[in-house]
Formats: sequence, structure tokens, C-alpha cells
Amino acid sequence: MAGPAHRVLSESQLATLAEHGEERTAAVGETLFEIGDESYPFAAIIEGEVAVTDGAGHEIVRHGASGFLGEMNLLSGQTVFLTAIVTEPMRYIAVDREVLRQLLFEDGSLSDLLLSAFIERRELLQQRQGIGIEIVGPHDSNETRRLLEFARRMRLPHSWLDPAESDEAKELIERVDSEDIPLVRLPGSIELRRPSNGELSRALGIGLELAPLEEVDLLVVGGGPAGLGAAVYGATEGLATLVIESTVLGGQAGTSRRIENYLGFPAGISGSELTSRAIAQARKFHARTATPYRARALEPGGEHHLVKLDEGNEIAAKAVLLATGAEYRRLPVADLDHYEGISVFYAAGPPEAQLCGAQRVGVVGGGNSAAQAAVWLARGGALVTLLHRRAELSETMSHYLIAELERYGVAVRDRSEISALRGEEGRLEAVTLTDGTQLQLSFLFLFLGATPCTEWLGDVVARDPKGFVLTGPDAEADGLLETSVPGIYAAGDVRAGSIKRCATAVGEGATVVRFVHERLSPAPA
Ligand SMILES: Cc1cc2nc3c(=O)[nH]c(=O)nc-3n(C[C@H](O)[C@H](O)[C@H](O)COP(=O)(O)OP(=O)(O)OC[C@H]3O[C@@H](n4cnc5c(N)ncnc54)[C@H](O)[C@@H]3O)c2cc1C
Repeated sequence: MAGPAHRVLSESQLATLAEHGEERTAAVGETLFEIGDESYPFAAIIEGEVAVTDGAGHEIVRHGASGFLGEMNLLSGQTVFLTAIVTEPMRYIAVDREVLRQLLFEDGSLSDLLLSAFIERRELLQQRQGIGIEIVGPHDSNETRRLLEFARRMRLPHSWLDPAESDEAKELIERVDSEDIPLVRLPGSIELRRPSNGELSRALGIGLELAPLEEVDLLVVGGGPAGLGAAVYGATEGLATLVIESTVLGGQAGTSRRIENYLGFPAGISGSELTSRAIAQARKFHARTATPYRARALEPGGEHHLVKLDEGNEIAAKAVLLATGAEYRRLPVADLDHYEGISVFYAAGPPEAQLCGAQRVGVVGGGNSAAQAAVWLARGGALVTLLHRRAELSETMSHYLIAELERYGVAVRDRSEISALRGEEGRLEAVTLTDGTQLQLSFLFLFLGATPCTEWLGDVVARDPKGFVLTGPDAEADGLLETSVPGIYAAGDVRAGSIKRCATAVGEGATVVRFVHERLSPAPA
């Protein structure tokens, strides 16, 4: 862990931390925190050295004078999954988690340094085996795939033990009933049996547990860029703001390999980094985020609207922002779910690129997301074929990306649609096209566009024929981003006519906050 691990604090930053923390000493061999601990203070090292190790005792990094200990779990509250042991007598400043959070709010340069390091450290830890949770279950089980997908999207460091490939995993699952599989082993030797995503989150200490009835000023449904934009602006403007998210904060943007056109990042930024930064920022300003909680019904009211959640909780909100975005379309072929998560994916990130090196890979779709994924996989060493159904890619894809496909040797097949998949136990071997052609492919990445996540709304708010939420004049509403029901707004991809981009989603989310303010505190007549 080079860069992020070895960032150092300046003299003045150490002095600031000293004002807010407590100076402590520790002898060689002393444990500052260990796997399974519920929390730990931030530690800024004045002198001495500490080694950070994984569950198997392998050393990951050493921090010395002016270095610091901490990663994302300091902000998320997630259980500790590493151990820190003193290797040279130490003098350090311990800063309580809540105090640090407040300090990050006040001190811009310290906040930049620590947040960047925490985020980068998490990204690096995710790439290491043997850190974090262990998911033990067979690859052909939907439940195993659900948990793997959840861990991947939550950016939880995790490893997967498949009983077909590991004797240890086989022994573990042989001692429990089949309905208890998969198992999840948490840091600190805690074992969960077939946990729901919510149970796993809460066992890890991540996220908020909602009361049966919550009352807020602004309820944001959906934690993608639009929802997070509203959360940051809502919280900074003093609105009691709650975001609920059915899966993982970050939305589609969180799954994007690289966002090239977001203002302020000329070299591009990975979707996971952009959304991790947004989440850290929302938490810094005390917006409350609750995951995974799915909204399943909306009952409009006069002063309060009521949103009912899957787990039975209810939220009464003076204003509601619908920011539920859109979901990927799936391929209409038999047994697709047998392959999903094993050899069929909807996003191409570092783990997938590693998995696909020197393999034959198909990318399906004619849009820019498909092109970006194809280039990324080709650069990782995969032999990539891009399949799309139109006559010309230029009808749907930006010209610069068509040039990139050529540059990285991606083969393009026009007028191609997949009619069947062939393989065994979720491992793809070949696909058949509608014209009967067979292509040998080991992995498939699907970028087929998206449908809005609005089914749960019934006919409560006006929607267009495709299900996108109407706003402003189209909904006969007073406000620009207001729906057909006063006090209920829509922003981002879920909104009819929106530009499906991160920057516009964030902008719309932030704009709604202004309208909510006007509604809750109308100007005197
Ligand atoms: C692979 C990929 C690459 C992309 N690349 C770029 C790019 O380079 N540049 C760019 O500008 N844009 C890019 N985009 C588009 C961009 O990510 C989207 O426009 C943006 O994420 C939309 O934000 P949103 O908040 O409106 O919706 P989403 O990101 O879709 O977020 C909506 C959230 O709501 C949650 N949700 C849904 N239903 C419920 C419910 N009932 N209860 C609670 N929560 C719910 C979902 O789980 C989701 O997290 C890309 C998208 C993808 C998929």
C-alpha cells in the first residue's frame, strides 16, 4: 500500500489533532485495535511505529512518525477488520471518532488529506484476499450470489469460499442445515446463517437502524448521485434529511468504472471513488443515510407524506424526493440468472478486469457505457468482442469511444443479438446469436439500458408511458422539479426528460433542496 498508506500529517495538523485528542503511549507488542473490535479512535503517530496485519497475521503496512491509523470504517462505524500492533515504542494522539468527524467538518485541508487516504485505503483493501468478511456458499446458489453482489457493491473487503473448491468451506457448510447456507463469517469470529442484506449490514455495524416511525423534513428515496446531492445540500442547509437506499449508496454511478466528464476531475474519477467521497461528505454534514431499506409505498398527505418501507418501518416527511434512478435491462434468454455474478456482469471494475485477463469476453450494447467497459477489459488483457444490434455504432456511441475501441483491438459485431447461453454451473462457454452463429465467450458484460425504478409508486404520481416521473409543467406542478403531488419532487434518472448524467443528477438533487426550503418556510406575504 504505497501512497495512501504513507501519507503524513504536517506539524500544524499534528498540533490541531493534539488540541482535540489525548496523547497516549504504547509499548512494543501492544495491540491498538484488533479484528472484531466495534470501533477504534483515530491515531496520529508522534513517534514510534505500528504494523497493521490481516486476519492471518500477514503484515499489510507499517506506519511511523507523522503517519496515521484509520480507514473508511472510522466514518461508517463498521466493525474493525484489521489488527494494529506496536513495533517500536509509540507516542500518539488518539482522537475519538465523533470528535474527528467534527474536526473534518471544520478543517478543510485535514479533511482532504484524511478522506482521500481513507477512501484509497479501502479501495486497496478490497483488492486483497483474506480481509473482511468471508462468504461461504456454493457458486450455483442465488443466495450466495446475492451476498457476493451486496458485498461487492457495499465495497466491503470480502472473500468467497466455494465448497466445490475449498475443503474448509465444504466442512463448514456440512455442519449446518441447507436452509442456513450460505454462511457469512464476520471479523471477530461471528457467524451469520443466510443473513439478509440488512442483517449483514447491521451485524457489521454499518448504517443506521431506523425507528418504526421516523419524522423528517426531507426524505430522499434513493442514494445515487441525485439523492446524495440532495443529502449534502439538505444537511448543510439545516433540513433534517434522511436518505433511504434499497441496496448500496452510490447508485449506478457507484458501479461505473470511470466517470470522465464530472466537473473538477480532468483525469476522470472512478464511480466508486466519486460516490465514496459524496457519502463521506454527506456523513460529515450529518445527513442520515439508512441502507438497505426499500420504499414500497407512498401515501401523500397534507402536512406530511408517508413512505412505507419493506421491513415495516414508516417515515413521515414534510417533503419527499424521488431519486430512485433506473435499473439495467437484462438479456431475454433462459437461465440468465445461473450465470449472473459468475460469468455475466453489469459493470466492469478492477475485480472483473482481473478475472477476464486473457479470456474471450463479450460486451453487449451500443452505448458509451458498453464502449467504456470494452476498452477497460481490453486494456486488462481480455480478447473483447462488442455486440450490438444496429447497423452502425455511430448511431448510439460517441465518436471518440469508437476510436478507442479500434485503438485497443476490440472486435465489433454489428446487427448481433444473443438468443442463448451455453455453459455449466454458471460458467459461460459460448453464446448463440439469433442468426445461429456460435461465439466462444467465457464472460459477458451487459449494457442494455435501463428502466425507471418507479413500480412501487403505483398511480400516486403522474408518470410517462415508460414509467419515468413527470415534473414541472408536464405534471401540471408549480415547481420545476415538483411532481403532480405538491411536496413530492423527482430528480435524476428517474425523472422524465432528465439528462442521464451524474452532474445533472447531482445538480437536480441540490436544486430540490431550494424548493423544499421555499415550501417549508414560505416568504412573508
Ligand atoms: C456503467 C455506467 C457508467 C456511467 N458512466 C457515466 C459517466 O461517465 N458520466 C456520467 O455523467 N454518467 C454516467 N453514468 C450515468 C450516471 O451514473 C447516472 O446518470 C446517475 O447515476 C443517475 O443518478 P440517480 O441518482 O438519478 O440514479 P441512480 O444512480 O440510478 O440511483 C438510484 C438509487 O435509488 C435506489 N432505489 C431504487 N428504488 C428504490 C426504492 N424503492 N427504495 C430505496 N431506494 C431505491 C437504487 O438502488 C439506486 O441506488 C453511467 C452509468 C452507468 C450504469
